[in-house]
Amino acid sequence: MTTGDGPSTITWVLHTDLVNLVRGRGLPDYDPVTTKGPAVGWVPADLALDAFGGLVENPWGPTGELRLVPDPETFVEIDRLPGGRPPFRFALARCVDLDDVSWPSCPRVVLERTVGRLADEFGLHVLAATEHEFGLLGQPVPLPFTVDAARRAEPLLSAVVTALTQAGVGPENVLPEFGHNQFEITAEPAMGVAAADRTVIVREVVREVARALDREITFSPVIGPGAGTNGAHLHLSLLDTDGHSVTADPLGEHGLSPVTSRFAAGIMAHLPGLSGLCTPSVVSYQRVGPRSWSAGYTAFGVANREAALRLAPGRPSGSGRPGLGPSLEFRPIDATANPYLAMAGILAAGMDGIRRNLPLPRSIAVDPDQLDDDQRAELGIEPLPRSLDDAIAALERDDVLTDLFDDELWACLTSLKRQEIERFRATPPSRIVTAYARAY
Ligand code: GLU
Ligand code: MG
Repeated sequence: MTTGDGPSTITWVLHTDLVNLVRGRGLPDYDPVTTKGPAVGWVPADLALDAFGGLVENPWGPTGELRLVPDPETFVEIDRLPGGRPPFRFALARCVDLDDVSWPSCPRVVLERTVGRLADEFGLHVLAATEHEFGLLGQPVPLPFTVDAARRAEPLLSAVVTALTQAGVGPENVLPEFGHNQFEITAEPAMGVAAADRTVIVREVVREVARALDREITFSPVIGPGAGTNGAHLHLSLLDTDGHSVTADPLGEHGLSPVTSRFAAGIMAHLPGLSGLCTPSVVSYQRVGPRSWSAGYTAFGVANREAALRLAPGRPSGSGRPGLGPSLEFRPIDATANPYLAMAGILAAGMDGIRRNLPLPRSIAVDPDQLDDDQRAELGIEPLPRSLDDAIAALERDDVLTDLFDDELWACLTSLKRQEIERFRATPPSRIVTAYARAY
């Protein structure tokens, strides 16, 4: 800890907004060990900032006053950055009003409440992790998955692993991916809200390392025209109150426990509405779609990478890490999605499946795009929304998901999305890609 020794000790108190950009204010004297963290002032209308430098119409305008309260559990300090940069210190925050009451429009508060419902109503907890894909821009393009691709990107990847280790988020796996200079990094899973926090932490640390090395990277769903797509697949497993996984059951269908089957069935039932929370940008629809390994249909599959929800096997035995058993991998999600709202939506959908005792759809062993319309109809498989307009309309029709929002949050979210759709209505796809690549 290097508190109190000059300007390099700024700690950023950060909040993740509705377009999944992280914004905040700096504190010169934050010490996560001795204080719960002083709050900093915040403005409700900050939620209405878009990803392109604008502010959309919103319910608060210039009025209202909030506080960002940093959570010491999320404190990160990285002081071994390349190029002798000042340490990068930050803590993630929740929003409260001036009476210290949780602000219901804060995405982190929405997830806290949803995770609380999962525990109170079902005695369940969620362990989750994001697979982060990103592209390195402006470099010659090596061949996919090759060690050549990985080594050419150095020292980026090694510096990312060092920084993530220092951030305490347990980097697990780093790999060159299929797209042009595309890489993937995963970190250890975490419980509940901490899992969404970790998703934010990993991205911000990777971005800082790239800045330190003067490399341009993007987590945008599309790296460049024809250059590949970045997903942010979310793996989920359910645990009981003692921390034991209740995901697997050797006697259950597909080896899943009854409760996880119903939970997965709930996610399947709400996939169209979830698009509005998980693939929530205009550019998201240049990624999701058939034959892209990003999911184009409402299909469930065991070990099928064209499925929207894939049952993924657990870690290989002998990996030296605790075996967590299989996980549910939610694939139509990207880095323009606020991870708190996306996860809250997925959990709310899963809980609806448990409550209504929904049956899990049949697992599809082929690419659903290879089936004809009749076969898909027979299996209950539908195309996922193919545009942001359709996704927002599906979200609007989904009461389970819209119940997560208070009126003001809903008004702000729909205002942002309407403005985003209009902004790009006549823009050529390649220019859309460039605009989001810059923002993310
Ligand atoms: N890049 C793909 C996506 O956009 C995922 C590839 C993979 O399965 O890792 O989702
Ligand atoms: Mg991947």
